[in-house]
Amino acid sequence: MIVGIDLGTTNSLVAWLTPNGPELIPNSLGEYLTPSAVGIDRDGQLLVGRAAKELQVVAPERCATVFKRLMGTDRKVSVADKTFRAEELSSLVLKSLKADAEKHIGQEVTEAVITVPAYFSDLQRKATIHAGQLAGFNVRRIINEPTAAAIAYGLHELQKERVALVFDLGGGTFDVSILDQFESTLEIKASAGEIFLGGEDFTRTLASQILAAKGMNFEHTETRHPQLVSRLIHECEKAKRRLTTGEDASVKFPDTDGLVSESSESVTVSRTDFLRWTESLLAKTRLPLQRAMSDAGLTRAQIEDVILVGGATRMPQIAAMLKEIFGREPLCQLDPDHVVALGAAIQGGLVHLDSAVTEMVVTDICPFTLGVEVSKDIAGTNRGGYFSPLISRNTTIPVSRMETFCTTTANQSTVKIRVFQGEGRRIDDNLFLAEFELKGIPRGPAGQVITIRFTYDLNGVLEVEAAADGSGSKASCVITHHAQNLSPEELKRAIEKLQELKVDPAEDQVNRHVLKWADRVYRELSGDARRMLEMLITGFEEALALQDPSAIENHRTTLEQFLESVDPSIE
Ligand code: AMP
Repeated sequence: MIVGIDLGTTNSLVAWLTPNGPELIPNSLGEYLTPSAVGIDRDGQLLVGRAAKELQVVAPERCATVFKRLMGTDRKVSVADKTFRAEELSSLVLKSLKADAEKHIGQEVTEAVITVPAYFSDLQRKATIHAGQLAGFNVRRIINEPTAAAIAYGLHELQKERVALVFDLGGGTFDVSILDQFESTLEIKASAGEIFLGGEDFTRTLASQILAAKGMNFEHTETRHPQLVSRLIHECEKAKRRLTTGEDASVKFPDTDGLVSESSESVTVSRTDFLRWTESLLAKTRLPLQRAMSDAGLTRAQIEDVILVGGATRMPQIAAMLKEIFGREPLCQLDPDHVVALGAAIQGGLVHLDSAVTEMVVTDICPFTLGVEVSKDIAGTNRGGYFSPLISRNTTIPVSRMETFCTTTANQSTVKIRVFQGEGRRIDDNLFLAEFELKGIPRGPAGQVITIRFTYDLNGVLEVEAAADGSGSKASCVITHHAQNLSPEELKRAIEKLQELKVDPAEDQVNRHVLKWADRVYRELSGDARRMLEMLITGFEEALALQDPSAIENHRTTLEQFLESVDPSIE
């Protein structure tokens, strides 16, 4: 049996091809979206998905998320007292999806088609295959997310040549790809994007405007009252979703401990306000759109279909903007969160019939962002550890980019140039590539100009040159490879290591998730509600200790119903 998997940065999904067409497979909690999160509980038990996300709220050091961004790098991620590579963490998510699929289908699932972003390099694709192998899959194909979306809409079945544009706005990233369909081959002609643009930016803008109306600055408040800001973002996320269908939405303003209650002040936001505040974010998607079209050598009129992918494309202003640009309604009959997994399932079915859709990709792009470490002046103090990109992910290569930087202290005669790869704002979240020193900077006040040039060629070789203006001093380094893939021995060892992790049977995972959920909500409640919750948790723990299945079921249902009625993060 073969399944299609959308291995996402925030959520992953699994689907299979049934005689009635592609269908999504629910996880043990009955949900289609499994958060791409891995956690290890205090008793060493492995948690994947929602339970790991709940654990992250109370014990972030025991959880890992967004590891897809590290695929194909040597970066290790700590989870509790263990360390993992990104492909190992991804394999745990895949393994959990495999178990869900086997339970749903009722037979062993041994093969998979897994999707990756169009900009993934060969190394990142290999790392994805390894993740699949670690999970016990024979990975039959790796396909591009936009291609999968196009397949879900049946583009591969059309008889005549057709050009489609896939507009993918997720939680934190934006990608646009142009696909050409001819003779059941799908070719990605161009892809472009913005690494720091997604639905989360819309939510943060809403939060920042609400704070501004109270005379509060977002960054300052976040430093002084992180709990208030994180809860406000949570409330704004709910409001943003309501504004997708409604004309206005109210946002409860949390206290400095991040708590909201019946008596909390409520701020009403209209859709018009929201549109005005987020206009510039929307405008940011236009540049990659234009770039992809010009890279593909196409005009707007030649784009025949526009396909929406990613949860944030549910915001009506996205479809409205695309309609204005392309003069046609985008395709949105399929849920934008499901479309990639559904396409992967169809490709899986076709692989089995030996008639898989052929894919072609133009790969002359730099698959990740490259830059240097810089320091920033934050409220009068100089803080290091920030990442300043020189070459953005998705840039067509070969490319050469230059930027100027300044010294930060008086009479500074040397500067250490540290080169990183990755998509994080801070260097800690990115992969360290190399460092070298530039000496002989003319002495003087802080602010002496240094020029750095990055040159990236078609073989993936990066040359970094630094020069101090007005002195003739120069230094450079050449970086030829970015990361090592796992060797067969390493793969074998990784499989053994992963097998040592304690994994619950599916039913226990549901229990664990409810306990984690209860733990988090407990912190948010007070008074009678908290006492009531304490009682219900104790009852459930007793039932679990006695291992009485019907008592477990009864207590769990009561506890779940109570949590649903009191959890402040549920509508
Ligand atoms: P994805 O990574 O594709 O799951 O996208 C997640 C993003 O979609 C998040 O930023 C969500 O806030 C956003 N999103 C999900 N549902 C909606 C909705 N109904 N309206 C607006 N944004 C949404």
